Formats: sequence, structure tokens, C-alpha cells
Amino acid sequence: MNTQLKDFKEKAVHKRVEDIKLYINGEFVDAESGVTFENINPFTNQVNNNVAEGRAADMDKAVAAAKYAFEKGPWGSLKVSERMKYINRIADLIDEEIEDIAILESLDTGLPISQTKNMTARAAENFRFYSRMVQAKLHGEAYPVDNEFLNYTIYKPLGVVGLITPWNAPFMLETWKVAPALATGNTVILKPGELSPLTANKLAEIIDKAGLPSGVFNVVHGFGETAGARLVEHPSVKAISFTGETTTGSTIIKNSADSLKKTSMELGGKSPLIVFNDADLDRALDAAVWGIFSFNGERCTSNARVFLHKNIKDKFVAALKERVANIKIGDPMDPSTELGPLIGKEHFNKVKSYIELAKEEGCEVVQGVVPEEVKAGNFVPPTLLLNATNDMRVCQEEIFGPVMAVIEFETEEEVIAAANDVKYGLAGFVWTNDIKRGHRIAHAVEAGMIWINAQNVRDLRIPFGGTKASGIGREGGHYAIFEFYTEPKVIHVALGDHHIPQFGKVKK
Ligand code: NAD
Repeated sequence: MNTQLKDFKEKAVHKRVEDIKLYINGEFVDAESGVTFENINPFTNQVNNNVAEGRAADMDKAVAAAKYAFEKGPWGSLKVSERMKYINRIADLIDEEIEDIAILESLDTGLPISQTKNMTARAAENFRFYSRMVQAKLHGEAYPVDNEFLNYTIYKPLGVVGLITPWNAPFMLETWKVAPALATGNTVILKPGELSPLTANKLAEIIDKAGLPSGVFNVVHGFGETAGARLVEHPSVKAISFTGETTTGSTIIKNSADSLKKTSMELGGKSPLIVFNDADLDRALDAAVWGIFSFNGERCTSNARVFLHKNIKDKFVAALKERVANIKIGDPMDPSTELGPLIGKEHFNKVKSYIELAKEEGCEVVQGVVPEEVKAGNFVPPTLLLNATNDMRVCQEEIFGPVMAVIEFETEEEVIAAANDVKYGLAGFVWTNDIKRGHRIAHAVEAGMIWINAQNVRDLRIPFGGTKASGIGREGGHYAIFEFYTEPKVIHVALGDHHIPQFGKVKK
């Protein structure tokens, strides 16, 4: 650990960190324009550091480097076992630097350090997972056809791929994309969220240290409308994997149409958690509280709408109020902190305005208390919106903060209809001890992922993603490698002399 970060760890202080550059063609470079932007610490609202602001010219340089590395690298044509040595080395280096990465992530995002450490460990595991997965599974199929042909498929990397990521859980979300993209032989341009650029550069440092050939991995910081937009429209970029807001996803799909790009969309959510009267209420309570207040509520799969059966509602709400009053709000660098500050002032104001709207819409608002000594940060206390109804705007729109709307229901049909009456379809959670009902609800709720009697845990093998306005496509498992980062090529081989029509042949 470098001395600056050691200081952070031991003293839990907040001060400036190093300015960061772009990482293009194996070098850390300033933006062509020389322009930088400030990166603000959400706990202090002071400047963390300056960040080189990449624009179209920088993106063009990065794409040219990635194209060269793909075509001449070699990267795509390396022996798989050779490529996986690099991938495993990245995982080992992440493991060695978990503390540093977690500290930077918490300084950058305000996420509690206990949570950023876990996410970082999982990021390393994701590289190992794709190393194993590609070696074991990335092979084609053979189709013998009537003893006349043998057709077979091989899976080829796409080429240069663009990865555009948001500010929440940045390191983990970036590595979710980077690991399968590199493992399958593509070269990469990462455009990180502009509000959380620090750990993307840490990843660049690690990849540099792992010795990947220049141009295989590039990071271009900057804003969506400039750097991001150029990546999306660039004719040499074959695909865009995007995680972010639903409206941005639509814009990216439109802007990628002219260059006919493949796109993958991981978008917003407003997920339901349904508690029936026969559920294990203690466990359902733990899950409901964790599901919305962990990651400061800035989590795409958070259970922002909690549906309570009328027979258990009062008891459950009383327990929720007790939890909300006791959640530990504080410095993200303190290992005992459970809820940190929101990413930035603009987002803070947005979340606060939704809480005001909830009052206007008729909710009773119950909140924890932000301690006086942390008032400089963007803290929104854990918040319950009681007596909510599903048609309210606060139940329809993604707030993306520590705000749980509580809605009462009576029948199974009623709760399924309400859970589905929203534009999103990312996740869902159902708590019941009636196994048949659990499965019925899981089948009926419109979402890409449903948990029955479980909190949001995910094995790396399973598909991650949503339906409706929550996304198109899936990340994770073999889905990422077969359905996104590679494409099949089929080879038809004749085994004998099959019939070929003889156009123009003169019959003798
Ligand atoms: P955002 O859409 O504002 O930004 C995401 C990224 O897109 C940033 O890097 C931004 O610079 C870039 N961008 C913006 N406009 C662009 C454009 N025109 N062209 C190209 N790039 C552009 O999202 P955010 O506020 O950073 O993140 C929060 C959102 O992400 C929430 O809606 C959340 O639900 C969603 N999210 C979804 C998942 C999932 O897996 N479904 C996971 C995490 C976050």
C-alpha cells in the first residue's frame, strides 16, 4: 500500500489524491486539449483530484490503438492459455491491492469501506471466473448433416469494444465488463462514469503492471455527450456494453444505429419486494433493509418498493422504523459505517426533491437522523415512505437513493398486478413460506431476476440483467461470452459430392 493510502486507512482522513490522466496505448497521458475537470469527494464536498477530460480526439486515439492491438497486437490471436495468464495476473494484482482500491472507491463514491472491500474481492474473482469459463466453455458446436456435410461453429471476438459505465459501484461494474471482454480476445475502451473516475485508473495501473500489450485496454475519462458519444458513433467500435440510466440507454441505441453496433443495456430499476403474512418476518426484514440501504441506496437492484401483506404490515413497519433510526450513518472510511453520503450535490438534491414529492403525494415520511459532525457530506438519511400507493410518482420513478416506499396489499393477484405496474423490470424479491406461492409469484413478476426468500446474492454463473425499461441482454456467466463479446462463425464442409445445380451447362 502506498504511504498516502496507508494514511487514509490508519487515520480515516480525507485529503487530495493524485490527479489522473487518460490511459491510451499503454501510456498515461493528458487530454489532447489539456483540459481537466474536478472530482469531488461526496463526504467533504472538497476536491479529491483533477481528471484529464477526454473528448472526441482522445477517443479517436484510443480506438486507433485498440484497433491496432486487435489486428496486429497480437491479442485476439494469442493462444488462449497465454491470454489467460494475463487475465489471472490481473486477478492476483487486484487481490494484492484490495485495500487501496476500496479506499479509493470510498473516497470517490461515498460508499462505506466495508462494502467496497467486498466488491473489490468479487471483481478479482470475476477475472478468474472468466479465465476458467473461456478455457472450459468457449468452443463451438459440430453439426453432422446426413453424412453429406459437417458444419461447425467457432466463436470469434468482435474486435474493439466500448464499455460505458456509471458512477455507482464503479470498480465492480467496470470489471464485470472488462473481464469477459478481454478474456474472449477483444480490445477495450473503457469510458467510466465522470463522477467516479479513480478506480478505473487503478485498474489501468494493474493492467499495465500485468504486462498486457499496449492498446489492448484503454481508459478515456470525460463526459457522456462528448467522450461517450464519440465512442458510441465511432465506426471502428464493434459493440457498446452500457450500464446506466434508461434514458441514456435509449440515446446510445439511437446513436449507434448508423454504425450498426451490437449493444447491451443494463438500465434502471424500481424493484418490488413482497412480504406475505406467512413469511419468516425477521429474515424478510433484514433483506428489505439491506436491499435498499446498502450501497447508500444507489443500487440498480434495490428493493425500492416494499409490498406488505395487510396482516403483518403494522408489525413490519414498526420494525422498519426501529432499523431506520439505528442505521449507522457516517464517514465512508469508517469500517462501522452502514450508510454513507450520496455521490454528488445534484443527485442529493434529486433524492431530496423526491422525498418532498412523497409528502405532497400523501406519504408519511419517517427518517433516520444525520449526525451533526458529518453535515458537510451529501447525506440523505434512511427514509421510509409509508402509506404509499403504487400509482404515486415516488413508486413509479427511479429515485436511486436510500428511500423505501411501503405499500399494503391483500391478495396475491393484487400484488402481482401492482408489482408489474411500472415501466422497469430488473429484479424482484418474494418472502413466503408457501413454496408453491413463491414460485407462482416468481413466474408472474416481470423482472430479469427474482429471489425467493433470499437477499440479493448472485453466483457469477447466472445471467444478470432486466426486462422492460431495465435493459436488453444479459451480463454474467456464459451469456456474456456467447451472446455478447463473441460471434459465431459457421464453417460448412462437404463430406462427399453433393448435388450442385448446373446452371448454363450444355447437355451433351
Ligand atoms: P448515466 O446514464 O447518467 O451515465 C452512465 C454513463 O453513460 C456515464 O459514463 C456517462 O458519462 C455516459 N453517458 C451519458 N450520456 C451519454 C451519451 N449520450 N453517449 C454515451 N455515453 C453517455 O447513469 P448514472 O447516473 O451514471 O448511473 C445510474 C444509473 O445506472 C441508474 O439508473 C441505475 O439504475 C443504473 N444502473 C444499472 C445497473 C444494471 O445492471 N441494470 C447497474 C448499475 C447502475
